[in-house]
Amino acid sequence: MRIVPARDGGLARLRLAGGVLSAHAARAVARAARACGSGVIEVTNRANLQLRGIRDDAHATLIGMALDAGLGPSTAGGDDIRNVMLSPLASDDTRALAAQIIDAMQGDCALHALSPKFALQLDAGERLAMLDHPHDLWLSSIDGGARFAFGFAGTMQQRPLGAIHRSDTATFAANVMRRFLALATSEEHRMRDLLARIGTARFLAEFDFDADVQTWRREPADASLRLGAHEGPYRATWYAGAQTPLGRLDANTLDTLADIADTHAEGRLTMTPWQSVLIPGIAAHDAHDVLQRLHALGLATDAREPLARVIACAGSQGCAKSHADTKADAHRLAALLPSHDEGQVHLSGCERSCAAAHPVPVTLYAVAPGRYDFHRDAHAVARNLTIEEAAERLARSHADA
Ligand code: SF4
Repeated sequence: MRIVPARDGGLARLRLAGGVLSAHAARAVARAARACGSGVIEVTNRANLQLRGIRDDAHATLIGMALDAGLGPSTAGGDDIRNVMLSPLASDDTRALAAQIIDAMQGDCALHALSPKFALQLDAGERLAMLDHPHDLWLSSIDGGARFAFGFAGTMQQRPLGAIHRSDTATFAANVMRRFLALATSEEHRMRDLLARIGTARFLAEFDFDADVQTWRREPADASLRLGAHEGPYRATWYAGAQTPLGRLDANTLDTLADIADTHAEGRLTMTPWQSVLIPGIAAHDAHDVLQRLHALGLATDAREPLARVIACAGSQGCAKSHADTKADAHRLAALLPSHDEGQVHLSGCERSCAAAHPVPVTLYAVAPGRYDFHRDAHAVARNLTIEEAAERLARSHADA
């Protein structure tokens, strides 16, 4: 496991299989955040966790606590590459297949050379799914799960390249990663980089697959289903979902979430790529009570709440590259936003946009403390605005819409 330096101390990434965290492991994470760091826990846009402010003398303790909680890799060198994204509502079957793929990745030392950003998506057509991330390989089940359509480099909402049988899926995924490593130069870390140079036909030349899926299209997803209380897609239980404020939880909140999962559900939490949390496995008659408990913890449970619509990177408190304290400014902006809108807003401390792995309609790029350039659909429409001016502009564009 790696702990990387950040402005506010060490940053420890804890990868979760399909975003799932047992209540037991959640309490261990909360303990580790208190004992080894600042107590700040972040849900990432890959449905993992990060602990901030890790002290230099606490690295070994933290790693030991994470391994004891079952959150480490199964092989040395296999931690960074465990990037297989699932729907937060994925079935047990899909999770079992993802585990097979992750085992193959971790077990093959050659694959440990992949970039930590190289990522896969395994999908079964769930309505709650993040389809906008540029996954290097995506696989989406078709024919009632008998086959998987596949494609590369964030093209899931376009035409698939082909399909493979379910029983071949883990082997196919491993072979795609091996071929990527065999063909990519040291400058090419993502599939899109390699394909831009050699083309898809050359990459696929050595693969056997079905080509009869050209007309298949993935059903659209609905991100609003991450919030609120809903019946689950595969079982006769409900789930409750809520947004963490700007992707952050404190240790006490995580402990309380673990308690709710134990007393009202099946003892587990699921983190999502929207930096939100779900509690699955709730009896139908308890679902709205659980939702109210999440709201009482300060989590947003409705897509129109400002804190469900604003994302921000670590900002100047946590990152030396940031021109502004994006987290504090995002809280100020959220307090000024109307509660009847649904538009997403992203505050970024610099042009890297770490907080938004998917397109967001409005981005405020920091240019100085408390000042932002206002971008809509990737075009700058105003420069050097204060947070109040940005809020006014957002309100005007909402009124014009
Ligand atoms: S977007 Fe820039 S300022 Fe924000 S965390 Fe990333 S690198 Fe740092």
